[in-house]
Amino acid sequence: MPGRPGRSRSESEAGRKPAIPGPSGQPTRHAALHRGGRNLASGGYAQQPTVRARRRPDPLTRRQQHLSVLALVLAIALTARFVYLKTARCEHFRVLSRDLRRVRTLIATRRGEILDRNNVPLAKTCDEFQLRFDPAAFEQTWANNHSAAQRKAAALVGSLIGMEPARVLASMRAEPGPGETRRSLLIKSRLTPEEASAVEYAKAAKVGTGRREPNLLEGFVVLTQHRREYPNGASSCQILGRVTLGPRGQVRGIGGLEDWADTVLSGSVGWNNMEMKKAGVFTGRETGYRAEPVPGMDVRTTIDASIQQILSEELGRCMQEHTPLGATGIVLDPRNGDVLGMVSKPGVDLSGPDAPALIASNPELMRNRAMMLYEPGSVLKPLTVSLALEVGVVKPTEDVPCQHGYTPQARPIRCEAHRSSLPSPGQNVPRMIVAKSCNVAAAKLAVRLGATRLHEGLSRFGLFERTAIQLPGEAVGWSLTDPVRGRRSRDDVARVGFGQGITVTPLHLAAAFAVFANGGILHHPRIVRSYGYPGRPPAKEYYV
Ligand SMILES: [Zn+2]
Repeated sequence: MPGRPGRSRSESEAGRKPAIPGPSGQPTRHAALHRGGRNLASGGYAQQPTVRARRRPDPLTRRQQHLSVLALVLAIALTARFVYLKTARCEHFRVLSRDLRRVRTLIATRRGEILDRNNVPLAKTCDEFQLRFDPAAFEQTWANNHSAAQRKAAALVGSLIGMEPARVLASMRAEPGPGETRRSLLIKSRLTPEEASAVEYAKAAKVGTGRREPNLLEGFVVLTQHRREYPNGASSCQILGRVTLGPRGQVRGIGGLEDWADTVLSGSVGWNNMEMKKAGVFTGRETGYRAEPVPGMDVRTTIDASIQQILSEELGRCMQEHTPLGATGIVLDPRNGDVLGMVSKPGVDLSGPDAPALIASNPELMRNRAMMLYEPGSVLKPLTVSLALEVGVVKPTEDVPCQHGYTPQARPIRCEAHRSSLPSPGQNVPRMIVAKSCNVAAAKLAVRLGATRLHEGLSRFGLFERTAIQLPGEAVGWSLTDPVRGRRSRDDVARVGFGQGITVTPLHLAAAFAVFANGGILHHPRIVRSYGYPGRPPAKEYYV
């Protein structure tokens, strides 16, 4: 509006926004107009008080207030948390801190031996000594004159373990390779016990160092490792099994007796809690928490190492001559069922350095064929004939005619034994059926017995149940005469009579044949006689 040059921006704002609360809390339209008028009168120079009075509360200030309150709350919460942690949770964190500074080191124990019946070891544990070197420990001790001390130490160690000092020095300065770490370099493996004790003595006696000098052999450590050895070579690998390192570094048996008797053989590993200053740096103090290791027991088997060796050689010859995929042999003592020998071919020498690679490429090497299922064929005939004699369906002098062929129901059976010439009348008595291995007569006797009596009889020879031998992975046979799962037709019964349509393991067959040599009494085979600590009464015995 012309004529009102003094109208300020504040006035116009006041005019547009009359609802700004005044000091009394009521809208101050009049007051604003009045003040505006006065300002006009004074030439519009005194506007400052008007601006201050009309300014809204600064939003920043309000935000600051909120933040202050928030900070205060946070500070109170943190203080409360701090007080809580320092008082109520103090013990918990003290224990946690102590545990973090402790490292549990395992104390290895001796694995028990597997012995034959004459206490000849079939599997034993040998101590192997290794000389290792910790460069950091040496450097800490010999901070001054480090290189000269290294050469001096290499010369001393070389003379103790029969190694060129230059090679010792090179190993001390080498980068860590496989099986090594920066703080554990391998200087020499397979030290003799004399070399190991020479190094230990020289370190303890500070040989080669002056009275005021630090130890020249600082950082050198003789480690004792347990190595499993199998003195019988490849002959017993399947029955003994092997060992490997478990996830926590413990020795674990795989297959054979190493597996079956693993708990007994391994004993229990000890442990020791060591204190650390910081990660990886030990103070050398023990914390008092320690469990002593318990050595494993020796397992005494029924095996005779010399019989095992002979059996292995004979089977080796058989493998060379006939080149089968595999072969197995069992020697049983029929009087008590003791397994004197059990060999499977092919095998592998477990003490050999390349044994793990060979087994990985061909798992068949570790397969115990004495406990696998086969269709036995003609070797079952003595069992059929003996059952027929026992039941009385044939007399010992009775002639069972062969005629080269026989059809029990639908499928004809041929006789390979009498293919060229038929037996003359009166010749095919039970004894000759077994001697000549006559399929037809054995089939006829099985049919005379019938499915039920034949199956029950074969069961009494123990063919369809576990022998309970102390080895893992035993298979159990089956037959077509089985009352639940077998077809049991006349043809099936006839075939089972001469060993077809039935599966058994060689071990089951060996035990069944031992019945003939033991006056008709069946002994379940056993391979473990007892276990316990050497020189003490056995902790457990397995009776016949
Ligand atoms: Zn015949």
